[in-house]
Amino acid sequence: MEKALADFQTLAAKLLADEKVNPVVDYIPADQLFDQLDLSLVENGIDDHTHLEKLKELVMATPRTATNGFFNQLYGGRNEKAVLGELLAVLLNNSMYTFKAAGAQVGVEKVVLRKVCEIIGWDENADGTFATGGSMTNFMSMLMARDAANSKVRHEGIQHKMTVYTSIESHYSIPKNASFSGIGRNNVRYIPVNKVGEMIPEELDKAIAKDIADGYQPVLINATAGTTVLGAFDNVQAIQKVAKKHKIWMHVDGAYCGSVIFSGKYKHHLKGLENVDSFSFNAHKMIGTPLTCSLIVVKDKKHLRDSFANEAEYLFQTEEDDFNPGKTSLQCGRRNDALKFWTLWKSVGTKGLEKIVDHQFDLADTARDYVRNHPDYQLYSFEDSISVCFNYKNIPAEELCTQLYEKAELMVSYGTFQEDDFIRFVTINAQNSKEEILLFFKRLEEFVAENYTELKIEELRVTD
Ligand SMILES: *Cc1c(COP(=O)(O)O)cnc(C)c1O
Repeated sequence: MEKALADFQTLAAKLLADEKVNPVVDYIPADQLFDQLDLSLVENGIDDHTHLEKLKELVMATPRTATNGFFNQLYGGRNEKAVLGELLAVLLNNSMYTFKAAGAQVGVEKVVLRKVCEIIGWDENADGTFATGGSMTNFMSMLMARDAANSKVRHEGIQHKMTVYTSIESHYSIPKNASFSGIGRNNVRYIPVNKVGEMIPEELDKAIAKDIADGYQPVLINATAGTTVLGAFDNVQAIQKVAKKHKIWMHVDGAYCGSVIFSGKYKHHLKGLENVDSFSFNAHKMIGTPLTCSLIVVKDKKHLRDSFANEAEYLFQTEEDDFNPGKTSLQCGRRNDALKFWTLWKSVGTKGLEKIVDHQFDLADTARDYVRNHPDYQLYSFEDSISVCFNYKNIPAEELCTQLYEKAELMVSYGTFQEDDFIRFVTINAQNSKEEILLFFKRLEEFVAENYTELKIEELRVTD
């Protein structure tokens, strides 16, 4: 093992040094991948030296997500305290189904979940669990909502058509989950949004009333805290009124920006959260832990057990159910995703988490100010969002993002809202400083100056 750890250190040192000078790795087209890298698996093993060389090649050729050149997805950076926790989780290799197998780590998980419930304002009756991502925590919410609406479904299957409600701007896991849960993709109702991308509660109410009149059983309303493109927050309080009126389970998908619960300044975006039935967020997004770290909490823990518990004598052999988290999980074996969050939280305190969140909004302010003050840019996103959406010189976003990627300049992605296409720049990496945000724009502008003539830009605009 010592040799493997030493090799890890060697690889890490090489990567960290190179990331400083090359924040974006050279682009390898997918159709050349197997020619450029030796990924082959062969009959006879290789010697340790060659093995390490192969690993070096692989590590150095992998897209870099922790640098100041990566703004492509809703995560980024490398928080050292959380990475330490993740490395320990690998070393310890506990499976989080029983107290017998995970012991103290069950305590770690329980403390994190309890603290999150407390911050929301929920009592001892609330609980939660970790799943393999935001898509899966959303799935869990849908299953609990389905079972809460009709407890027979678990045994007999769906007999009566059910519907779920989510905004048109919500995450694509909702229709997928509708298919997995037996509710069906066609029974997802996409509620329109206002001009800043938030679900319109009146439209929601209308859609529900119509479905009830048509003989459907509405089971879930999903609100989004940080829509995937614009980073918009649905109005939790107004939507919850509709949920209450029709007695429908309400979930808040905070995968992207639900971590605002840690910020005194920004938690108002989730005003009324204490009244919803379930809430999920990804600590691997705003909090910056390694992938994946996805939590779901429910106001009444009974629903977790109702939907996910199964007796298994060969597994659950000691302790009370409360210390056997396998009884409330989607999985059987489950990796320890709580530890990385706990090691970070233990180190910086809740105030430290607040700082991480607030800093991302500060960085977004810097980016929005820059875009607003430079006439070659057009802004498409809104205040209080860490997604800053813009176009530069009206160059089609897809063209520019693809070129930046293929020329190994910057990794940033593009999105669409209503009629507009634009670059979506996310200030999710809290390890960036304001200078690095400004550096992004400088790199972008220099890249355009070097690679596009005014004539070419003109042509691109026309063909867009
Ligand atoms: C990222 C995201 C998800 C999915 O989370 P994964 O961990 O990638 O599965 C769900 N909802 C929203 C709003 C997201 O931004």
